[in-house]
Amino acid sequence: MKILAIGAHPDDIEYGCGGLLIRGADAGHEIFLHVLTDGSATTDADRKTEQSTAAEMLGAKELFWGGFKDTGLVQNRELIVALENIIKKVNPDVVLVNAPGDAHQDHEALANCAVTACRYQKRVLFYHDYTTLNFQPDTFIDIGDVLDRKRALLACHASQVNKQNPTGLDLLESVGALAAYYGFMAKVRYAEAFRPLRNLIEPI
Ligand SMILES: [Zn+2]
Repeated sequence: MKILAIGAHPDDIEYGCGGLLIRGADAGHEIFLHVLTDGSATTDADRKTEQSTAAEMLGAKELFWGGFKDTGLVQNRELIVALENIIKKVNPDVVLVNAPGDAHQDHEALANCAVTACRYQKRVLFYHDYTTLNFQPDTFIDIGDVLDRKRALLACHASQVNKQNPTGLDLLESVGALAAYYGFMAKVRYAEAFRPLRNLIEPI
């Protein structure tokens, strides 16, 4: 199976669905990453290198860059076409992407454009990113066995781990808190959560 994960910035994908991707790669699925911006708006750090390191750790088959300006994503034809081009190239079985309803304009623009770009995709799941709002998931994956590896994946984004936020939690702690919360909802110890745009399933 081919899994395409899309994120507005370096670290979005690892934060939202790193556990699913680790489990997917372990199961022999092919992982493709599409990151729309280089995340350079608020830091001098080389976030493209951080993202490449994470992709390598994940064993991703390919990492695509959108080349858009960080904080400059808007819901327009250009972004939709960029997403469509990678979807055509990869021909994924599953697409994972930022969720509509997000306090960051890049996440919001990407999510809305993805709804259009994925209009013929049979399995599209929105993930919970750092600034997602009003997220009501109904689809979960158990990441209890891979949470430490998810943290290691996120730690590749070293410039982001201690970035300022009002909770006092660093990036790795916050992802652990989310995993425990969604684990409680999913009736396992730790989980990642998703909201499907569309989810074609097989007979159970
Ligand atoms: Zn982001």
